[in-house]
Amino acid sequence: MHSDLISKIEKARHYASQPERIAIQTLTATFRGGNNDHVITVDAGVWHCDCDFFRGHGTCAHVMAIQKVLSPMLSEQARSAVNPLDDDTIASQLA
Ligand SMILES: [Zn+2]
Repeated sequence: MHSDLISKIEKARHYASQPERIAIQTLTATFRGGNNDHVITVDAGVWHCDCDFFRGHGTCAHVMAIQKVLSPMLSEQARSAVNPLDDDTIASQLA
């Protein structure tokens, strides 16, 4: 294998261990929920999900789950936007 490519693969492996290097600006994802698929977006730190719960509460299990999974790669605004999982008081009530 070409030595340039080998060094890039090593660099990629190193980068992949540091997800905080990646900053997600805009994302559209399909979330396979318990009953239906849902479309989730985040743009400039603002989340949206097409489920009924999100419409009434501004967050939902789908958004909270994706916030948790992508946490190191989200802006501070996207990470903290209405996420009870980050709130110890609410999280302890749910535990
Ligand atoms: Zn949802």
